[in-house]
Amino acid sequence: MGAVKEPVAVVAGQKTGEMGVALTTLEEALEWVAAWGRTRAMWPLLFGLACCAIEMMATQASHYDLSRFGMEIMRASPRQADLMIVAGRVSRKMAPVVRRLYDQMTEPKWVIAMGDCASTGGVFNNYAIVQGVDEIIPVDVYVSGCPPRPEGLIEGILLLHEKIRRGGIRSSR
Ligand code: SF4
Repeated sequence: MGAVKEPVAVVAGQKTGEMGVALTTLEEALEWVAAWGRTRAMWPLLFGLACCAIEMMATQASHYDLSRFGMEIMRASPRQADLMIVAGRVSRKMAPVVRRLYDQMTEPKWVIAMGDCASTGGVFNNYAIVQGVDEIIPVDVYVSGCPPRPEGLIEGILLLHEKIRRGGIRSSR
């Protein structure tokens, strides 16, 4: 009869091949379900500011098909939207309007700055253009490019989903 081997000491961080036990609380499970639901039913606000909006429209059309992510409905009312995609440069004159739309959106809500102009002012380094929409509203994800291709915007949306799944829910400022 063979001797019974002593269990091998487990070194922290080392893969042992042993099965772990998943433990969670009901609260954590509900938060996970809520986050999953939010990422599968985001309703973007229907508005565009400049040329980047053309790429946003292309992203929404059949070839790229945002309905894969439950985003086929762009809402014309901020009260029915929880995602603002700032597509284009923000003029100083438009800034209070963008802020008001953001304030009227439902909670929790998120913002994607699409393109160089929305993120930093882009090539418009002058007094008439806001040098990044984060001067007036909080931004969750920045998408670079002039303009970003639809694939870039989709990557930004997927990054936002990842952030929400990790608990990145934030109230308005
Ligand atoms: S980033 Fe380029 S494409 Fe987008 S609004 Fe600015 S100038 Fe137009």
